[in-house]
Amino acid sequence: SATKTDVIVIGAGAAGLMCAISAGRRGRRVLLIDHAEKAGKKILISGGGRCNFTNLHTAPDRFISANRHFCISALRRYTQHDFIALVRRHGIAFHEKKLGQLFCDDSARDIVGMLLRECEEAGVTLMLDTTVGRIEKDGGFRVETSGGAFDTESLVIATGGLSIPKMGATGFGYGVAKQFGVEVLPTRAGLVPFTFADADPRNFKDLAGVAFDAEVRCGGASFSEAMLFTHRGLSGPAILQISSYWKDGMPVEIDMLPGAGIEDRLKGLVAERPKAEVKTLLSDLLPRRLALKVTPASFDGRPANRVPEREWQSLTHDLRHWEISPAGTEGYRTAEVTLGGVDTAALSSKTMEARAVPGLYFIGEVVDVTGWLGGYNFQWAWSSGYCAGQFA
Ligand code: FAD
Repeated sequence: SATKTDVIVIGAGAAGLMCAISAGRRGRRVLLIDHAEKAGKKILISGGGRCNFTNLHTAPDRFISANRHFCISALRRYTQHDFIALVRRHGIAFHEKKLGQLFCDDSARDIVGMLLRECEEAGVTLMLDTTVGRIEKDGGFRVETSGGAFDTESLVIATGGLSIPKMGATGFGYGVAKQFGVEVLPTRAGLVPFTFADADPRNFKDLAGVAFDAEVRCGGASFSEAMLFTHRGLSGPAILQISSYWKDGMPVEIDMLPGAGIEDRLKGLVAERPKAEVKTLLSDLLPRRLALKVTPASFDGRPANRVPEREWQSLTHDLRHWEISPAGTEGYRTAEVTLGGVDTAALSSKTMEARAVPGLYFIGEVVDVTGWLGGYNFQWAWSSGYCAGQFA
């Protein structure tokens, strides 16, 4: 015999916790189940332990999805300001780091603590260390778990994506979708460093540790931020951002001298030090190791004022349209997010319910909605979780 409840949420991460609170506050009996030994493990390690919990500039155009309109409704129903108000109500100190990114002053533990307190107030029953077995639908849902069988009216899948398998990520949510005939779009790692093949003569290993500001472009998107050479390839915020737009085989264009007026700045440098070599002058604009690497040998030994205009133009053009071809990414091992997932075409954008399976909901990262770096992914978890909780 099974225990009856109103709502079961599988996955006590960001989205699942928020959904459980939202449903519990409506007076629903909610069971929140996770196979991990504690709730919100990804929140705890996020943002370098300080959790970048939202972004002041949250807007639909900062999300990637096969249907870019899908996220609009949920983001409007539960906004970044709603979450900020919650954080304030709990007296959690926070600050804007840059680009609208809000972080805890102290620790990501404050956010998890807040969500657990809210769950308690909302009467949510939390079952940790619990594995989920068979799920069957017969009117409502029967869910078999290591903690017993449960009959529920609504079932919410909040098990996240495939990133960081070491922390317990599984393809569980995609499996449930398939079981109930809900389409799953191909997944791939996002917000992830690029790698180069070891044999690639342009693998830039000698530049490991060099960081600089660049504008990075790929697949119609561009980001102006810091990028970093690593022993395996490229990283840094600009690279992580563009990685979500990159697909196998696509070139990535890097503007090492972004912004207007670079030609005038170079002319100024030549006027100041006419006898200096080009690579020396470029070291004023780029990290020295990078300047040495990217200045062609044909410029060696020539004073800058003897270099014809046309050669300057060609050099600056190359530095502003520097094309690289990553061999791949570091994959789910280090990716912050999973692109793709449960097809939004199968879901209601208002409730997150599967159109063809009444009572079944998908929220958070398991859905094909992926935010930029900077607190957007948590905001999607809060927004989609809140909305499902209002209807489940
Ligand atoms: P998750 O938070 O991943 O939660 C899923 C839950 O489901 C987990 O508790 C898991 O244990 C449970 N689960 C999985 N499978 C099963 C199963 N079979 N049975 C039972 N339970 C299961 N985003 C930001 O916005 N800001 C940041 O600062 C940020 N930093 C990040 C840092 C790192 C290192 C990583 C990896 C990601 C970061 N992200 C950040 C992304 C963000 O963590 C995710 O987008 C977000 O956690 C997704 O929320 P979710 O609830 O959908 O999934």
